[in-house]
Amino acid sequence: MAAFRKWRLERGAGEPMSEGFNNYIAGEWVPARNGKTFANINPANTDEVVGLFQASGPEDVEAASDAAAKAQPAWAAVPAPRRGEYLFKAAEILEGRLAKLGEEMTREEGKTLSEAKGEVKRAINIFRYFGGEGARSFSYQIPSERENVFCYTVRKPLGVVGLVTPWNFPSAIPAWKMAPALVTGNAVVIKPASLAPLSAYRLVEALHEAGIPAGVLNYVTGSGGAAGNALAENRHVRALSFTGSCEVGKRLHEKLGGRRIRLQLEMGGKNPTVVLRDADLDYAADILVNGAFFSTGQKCTASSRAIIEKAIAEPLIEKLLAKTKKLKIGNGLEAGVDMGPAVDAAQLETDLKYIEIGKQEGARLLCGGKRLGGGAYDKGYFIEPTIFAGVTSEMRIAQEEIFGPVLAVMAANDFEDAMLVANSVKFGLSASIVSKDLTRVHQFIYWIPCRA
Ligand code: NAP
Repeated sequence: MAAFRKWRLERGAGEPMSEGFNNYIAGEWVPARNGKTFANINPANTDEVVGLFQASGPEDVEAASDAAAKAQPAWAAVPAPRRGEYLFKAAEILEGRLAKLGEEMTREEGKTLSEAKGEVKRAINIFRYFGGEGARSFSYQIPSERENVFCYTVRKPLGVVGLVTPWNFPSAIPAWKMAPALVTGNAVVIKPASLAPLSAYRLVEALHEAGIPAGVLNYVTGSGGAAGNALAENRHVRALSFTGSCEVGKRLHEKLGGRRIRLQLEMGGKNPTVVLRDADLDYAADILVNGAFFSTGQKCTASSRAIIEKAIAEPLIEKLLAKTKKLKIGNGLEAGVDMGPAVDAAQLETDLKYIEIGKQEGARLLCGGKRLGGGAYDKGYFIEPTIFAGVTSEMRIAQEEIFGPVLAVMAANDFEDAMLVANSVKFGLSASIVSKDLTRVHQFIYWIPCRA
């Protein structure tokens, strides 16, 4: 805490002093062995430290995975429905704290309060869903070819599971990795994102209060390069589930492929929303605004490419601009705010860099494009929601994930052309279509991209 106090004094910050948060290893809340910490800063008000977290090193990850390896066999022997009960109990504890946890998430990640509360509720639902899986983990009986031979499958845990999570869904993603791993009898070590570790801490805290046995769940904060990498390389880890950028995911794939452990990678996207000529234009504009700008465009599933049939491009863009200009940008804790800040200075810089690239590539800037300044904006990483038109597939703003509130509008001659444009990226994550033509909608869903 001394480092935290010094940091606070140096900054002269005026917001309420907050507490330090420890790692959770073998059922105990413990500091990093190197004594180092890092600050979790509010991106809407950089004077505010949301909390001080442990800057753990490989030795803390080692202690956490040792604890997990030790606890896992006894946990695997607990009947699955009973393992599910810990999740049900934790869900109840979290539900009682929903308002507080939503507010904390807004302060650490920047998303609006309603989005944050919705996400906490989603994490609670995930705990409940997987709690139920304890009683539904069915196996198969397979008809045998031979007499007196009985064929069936049995579900067995893998052992120690490592989880590495991003900052943009700091509660839901840890929940949807932790809950299935735990209910199926694995022990877990989680390393949350350094930009938003508090939301995952609250999930771990609830499971601790629900009485989960010591060592079954472990939480270690610290940088990806030190703690994340140590977890990926740890000898006890039999499966690693990662959500984050393509760059880091690719590196983990290369590193872990040779070890033949289970590896789950959820990575980036450059998602299209196709709008066909028969669409309700008001509805389409709402969908585009929501998909591109809510959560400040910081969703792997955000739609960053609007692919619009030329016949309706002009009136739809008009509606899109009108709705975008009405968005209120600000601190997500304030009522009426539609879009919060970028999560940190680096993400803001990336957004602005891509806006410059878009201009240089010859795309037409229709609105936004600038960092917001003046008054409370000066304390946060606020940026205008930005729309480019005249974007073509070879442009970088049509190809690379920006992860910010930047929408590229692209024209298509017809449905087939729209599908070609939609598929002209290396990513394949999510996609949407706005149309009243059910045949087209089904063609969109079952489309098989042809590569020349
Ligand atoms: P990131 O930089 O790749 O970080 C993700 C996690 O990996 C963080 O916990 C990070 O730790 C850790 N990490 C970084 N370097 C590492 C290394 N060398 N070894 C092991 N772990 C390492 O991604 P992000 O910026 O947090 O998240 C944004 C990205 O996530 C976007 O690309 C987005 O599309 C993607 N995403 C995908 C999904 C999906 O379901 N497909 C969902 C949400 C987000 P630090 O935080 O300490 O750096």
